[in-house]
Amino acid sequence: MTKIGMLYLCTGRYNVFWPDFYHSFREKFLTDCDREFFVFTDAPHIEGESDPAVHRIPQQAYDWPYSTLRRFSVFLSQEKVLRDFDYLFFFNANLVCSKPITSQEFLPRPALGENLLLVQQPGFWDKTPPFFSYERRRCSTAYVPYNCGSAYVTGGLNGGTARAFLTMCRVLESRTEEDLHNGVIAIWHDESQLNRYVAERRDYRLLSPAYWYPEGWRMPFDPKIIVRNKARFIDVGAVKHQTIQPQSLPARKWEAFRQNYLPYLCCLRDTVLRRKLK
Ligand code: UDP
Repeated sequence: MTKIGMLYLCTGRYNVFWPDFYHSFREKFLTDCDREFFVFTDAPHIEGESDPAVHRIPQQAYDWPYSTLRRFSVFLSQEKVLRDFDYLFFFNANLVCSKPITSQEFLPRPALGENLLLVQQPGFWDKTPPFFSYERRRCSTAYVPYNCGSAYVTGGLNGGTARAFLTMCRVLESRTEEDLHNGVIAIWHDESQLNRYVAERRDYRLLSPAYWYPEGWRMPFDPKIIVRNKARFIDVGAVKHQTIQPQSLPARKWEAFRQNYLPYLCCLRDTVLRRKLK
């Protein structure tokens, strides 16, 4: 039977999401495979821990954004055990599996040259690369020029064969540490690092946002994995040290220009300068 390692990170207030994740994925996700859950958490106990397929791995709670950014080194702390699986997948805490998902529709197919499994980020599935939310600063190891890239994927659900996934974790851990050493944090943390890695390769299976469907959104996909609105469960602003500031009219206009038009100019510049993934 195919062995699947399910990696789940929930420190601090994110522990609240585990029970629904566990029950829904256990019931509906790759039920024809042998699945084991690795739950990296600071909670002293978690629901289902008497299930031999659930492994609670004590993990200290880092402050934001290190709680998400440092995930690659968190997974690598269990590398020896994880190497024995056929496939490994990481899931953001606030996911719920809403419909049955089979191996045929989900697993990367190495025979077709697919080693990684990625899911299109719902904000960008209908946009072109210059409009993707890549890290655009050249000082970061996650930098992607405006004339490069082909898919923008979510950082919250990805995986692959154990070998490909662990290799990716090692590369992204080292790039993240290099950035931190230089005083840089990529714009969307681990997601920016992942997207730079994806821009360098083609050996992946890319799924639609049906597998990363934010609750309350309307998209032309049949939702299979729902992304729950965290704000209904936890104080996200407190976790991320954010306060919402009302924006002035000029600031809103600039933001609209930056998002909708500036990428055309930047793409032209990067094409003329023949910028590449360095
Ligand atoms: N996370 C965590 N504890 C925290 C913050 C984040 O365990 O205090 C983990 C959790 O797995 C979460 C993931 O990091 O799903 C990404 O964080 P979040 O969902 O807030 O980021 P977003 O997807 O909104 O960028």
